[in-house]
Amino acid sequence: MRHVAIVGSGPAGYYTAETLQKADDIAVDVIDRLPVPYGLIRTGVAPDHQSIKAVSRRYEGVALTDNVRFVGHVAVGEDVSIDELLSLYDAVVLATGAPNDRPLGIAGADLPGVIGSAAFVGWYNGHPDFADLDPPLGAPGVAVIGNGNVALDVARILAKSPAEFAGSDIVAHARDALAHSGVREIHILGRRGPHQIAMTPKELGELGHLDRASPRVDPADLPPEGDDALLEPGMRKSVTHLRDFAANPVAKPVTIDFDFFASPVAIEGDGRVERVIVEKTELDADLRSRGTGETYAIDAGLVISCIGYQTPPIPGVPYEHGRGRFANDEGRILPGLYCVGWARRGPTGTIGTNKPDGARVAELVLGDIGRGAGKPGRPGLDALLASRGATPVTFRDWRRIEEAEVRAAIEGAPREKFVSIEAMLAAIGR
Ligand SMILES: Cc1cc2nc3c(=O)[nH]c(=O)nc-3n(C[C@H](O)[C@H](O)[C@H](O)COP(=O)(O)OP(=O)(O)OC[C@H]3O[C@@H](n4cnc5c(N)ncnc54)[C@H](O)[C@@H]3O)c2cc1C
Repeated sequence: MRHVAIVGSGPAGYYTAETLQKADDIAVDVIDRLPVPYGLIRTGVAPDHQSIKAVSRRYEGVALTDNVRFVGHVAVGEDVSIDELLSLYDAVVLATGAPNDRPLGIAGADLPGVIGSAAFVGWYNGHPDFADLDPPLGAPGVAVIGNGNVALDVARILAKSPAEFAGSDIVAHARDALAHSGVREIHILGRRGPHQIAMTPKELGELGHLDRASPRVDPADLPPEGDDALLEPGMRKSVTHLRDFAANPVAKPVTIDFDFFASPVAIEGDGRVERVIVEKTELDADLRSRGTGETYAIDAGLVISCIGYQTPPIPGVPYEHGRGRFANDEGRILPGLYCVGWARRGPTGTIGTNKPDGARVAELVLGDIGRGAGKPGRPGLDALLASRGATPVTFRDWRRIEEAEVRAAIEGAPREKFVSIEAMLAAIGR
């Protein structure tokens, strides 16, 4: 029997397991620090995008195969070390994602009211680490820093009316706080221009259909229309949305301003954030942004940086500091140790990008471990955890948690998530 441990039950973990479980004589343990599976499908993907979250049904199919086991509520690095896993399993695959916000690195970034998108998104999606975030939503101005889809998610969630969350699984504390929010002016800041965004057309187009909020683009920021022909089709569609927002401004109570060519250089305030100082930029010949020296201020009681993520290092595991991910050669880190997904590539690509990545790393693993080295595998992990008094959450337990969440749903919603580990465990009688 060959034994493989996958650390992380997000898309990368389950796509890797999907390929591995088709092999003969293999037992795969998918370990996660949370009692609930699916990584960012549960805690990252926007609560009002339920059709995207439905991909978890595919992972459930993998989890329910005989040779795959979910081992929840076990944090690698705390409850069990990498060295211990390497002694128990023929291969250990790190699919731990990139859960830490990349630091903003400007003066004032440590003021209360400046938060990263991992925290803000985790808060509205019920990640237990961020349930107590309590973001300040009293002031009209919010600055959202970044020009990718996460910035769009954050701006849209801030802008929506309570009725627009019908059918979503936004958690109760966020639903209530947003219903009483004073946010009226949302600025999305990008250092470069409309042709350099990393926003997909569907997500961008949604901003044009919000009940009480409307997007605004300064026509002067748009390049000549003929230049759009040089863009790939998806980007062209996104830019077409921006042109439409610029040409057809609609007056609504909440505004979402696209501040292009805008680089935040400092955050100021007396004991908490009050404004962001922004330097106007221009593009150089290599399409990089450079400051013009001209600055302006945006009043903001909340700043949310959406500028990317990092994988936390694990002691003893080679790490690429510049790129915030494990150092690896196509997925191989050290003998017996691999990585996949965001922990391997960095935080780029869609859910689907993790599928070929998972398949490729699984093939590598299968080729490397051959018929296995007679390691203890599952029984060994169980004995080790038992000796530490740790009781993992099984997939059957998770389904009971899920059933309780579905039962608690408000009308029209798919579920009401538990937002603390204690509440998740209480649902299974612990
Ligand atoms: C806000 C946001 C919105 C997104 N929306 C979309 C979208 O709409 N469509 C789309 O295609 N893509 C979207 N993505 C991208 C998508 O979520 C990622 O491509 C994908 O989740 C990456 O998968 P992963 O398995 O590498 O990491 P993750 O999904 O982050 O999974 C990592 C898992 O590892 C676990 N873990 C971490 N450390 C440990 C440890 N030490 N011990 C045990 N377990 C551990 C975590 O609990 C987690 O379950 C979004 C991303 C973000 C951040």
